[in-house]
Amino acid sequence: MFSFDSYLGIKRNFFIIFLCILFTSCGSSTQEPLTRTDFVLGTPVTISLYDGQSEPLLEQCFEQLRGLENLLSINKTGTVVDKINHLAGIAPVTVEPQAFELIKTALEYSHLTQGAFDITIGPLVKLWHIGFPDATVPSIDEINQRLPLINYKNVVLDDNNHTIFLQKTGMMLDLGGIAKGYAADQLVTLLKAHGVKHAIINLGGNVYALGDKPDHSLWTIGIQDPFHPLGETIGTITAKNQSLVTSGIYERYITDKEGHNYHHILNPHTGYPYDNNIASVTVVSDHSTDGDALSTSLFALGISEGLKFVETLPNIEAIFITQDAKVFTSSGLKSQFTLTSSDFTLQH
Ligand code: FAD
Ligand code: MG
Repeated sequence: MFSFDSYLGIKRNFFIIFLCILFTSCGSSTQEPLTRTDFVLGTPVTISLYDGQSEPLLEQCFEQLRGLENLLSINKTGTVVDKINHLAGIAPVTVEPQAFELIKTALEYSHLTQGAFDITIGPLVKLWHIGFPDATVPSIDEINQRLPLINYKNVVLDDNNHTIFLQKTGMMLDLGGIAKGYAADQLVTLLKAHGVKHAIINLGGNVYALGDKPDHSLWTIGIQDPFHPLGETIGTITAKNQSLVTSGIYERYITDKEGHNYHHILNPHTGYPYDNNIASVTVVSDHSTDGDALSTSLFALGISEGLKFVETLPNIEAIFITQDAKVFTSSGLKSQFTLTSSDFTLQH
């Protein structure tokens, strides 16, 4: 498991510091936020309260995140996901309502994308182990052994009894592509219940802008340049009560002896990372669960299919950045997104 000062932690922490600078420099508000950063869900999480500032509330937020990690992680023993995976091919597991609803939502995205986003990707995620110190490029035999285990259609949900069953031994759920978004939504609910009207939640680059800024102008959030150090941006998005989630090739990857990079969004049909010229996809949405599932889904679908798909979804917008520095935005983002880097060209 990563420690806070691992290579990934350092890179992501830098990004968070940058985001804070961007937020404060773009506002005329004089009030400094009450901010805390901690390492949860395998990533640095920063919560900044611009009103309703309360240390116990911040502590409650992080307790909630730790609770979700203990419920949903594939990397810990005793979590619900771990129990479901261990009993794959053997027996259904009764799941408490919160996890059941999330897994149900994740499965809906698997159906919606016809398996491009597949929550049974676990055996391949465990095999590659990208983001962990022991990550290596697996052999083709190892990959081929896992491929028959990946199929969201073999997940059986029983709505009446709240049970989940994976039909084949060796199958594994992995919620890495959606659970951080779910966690952000849970924090938003908690903060709103405590009367907070202006806050920024940042789960390792998975950002939720709660309300507007204290001076009632919009938050301005930078979109990471995928080819430059974290903190350098290609443009900005203005936001209010919105989630911005990015999936990209530049944070979690390994490099083999030949210098080839392998990122962490895996094609369930080949067992290798998707190779589709996308460098990153950012999804703007009202709910972060949707944004997280969709950022991974759109990455998996590719630019052409992904853009078509996003246009069918109400209140969902996206920005695709290609590996040859082109930027595609969905139609609803025209006034919200500003390209600021001359290294990139906006496509229409
Ligand atoms: P996203 O694009 O949102 O998601 C990519 C992730 O989705 C991949 O890493 C993989 O997990 C999964 N995925 C890959 N291909 C597909 C596909 N085709 N369909 C569906 N899903 C796919 N990281 C650590 O280093 N150590 C930890 O202990 C740790 N614990 C965690 C516990 C929880 C509960 C969660 C939610 C995350 C944890 N993480 C941990 C982080 C996690 O491993 C990923 O880094 C993170 O969730 C990926 O998020 P992202 O926004 O970078 O990418
Ligand atoms: Mg995601």
